[in-house]
Amino acid sequence: MAKKCVECEKEVTNYIPLYKRGTICGDEEDYSKRVICNHCLKISEDYAYCCCCGNDGAYSIKDLLTDEYNWYCKEHISESILETEEEDNWLNYLDYINDPSH
Ligand SMILES: [Zn+2]
Ligand SMILES: [Zn+2]
Repeated sequence: MAKKCVECEKEVTNYIPLYKRGTICGDEEDYSKRVICNHCLKISEDYAYCCCCGNDGAYSIKDLLTDEYNWYCKEHISESILETEEEDNWLNYLDYINDPSH
């Protein structure tokens, strides 16, 4: 069934479900009613995949964090950072991302 892409508002059959805002490591139960088409997702500055969760659904960029190379959901950024950084750095990073003043 065709749905309307949130970005281009065209009817699309080849769409990616968007997770609800605030979703961490989403699955089918976290899909919002909204969808985005492949083309818009590629160029979108508002939605992206978590590079660990796969391509089943796209997150609002506000629910993702980046290591400058890839987007991660909040669950997967911790795994990604912990693999490469000392725990102190991770705690500093947490302080940094939780600080609303930047
Ligand atoms: Zn579109
Ligand atoms: Zn993820």
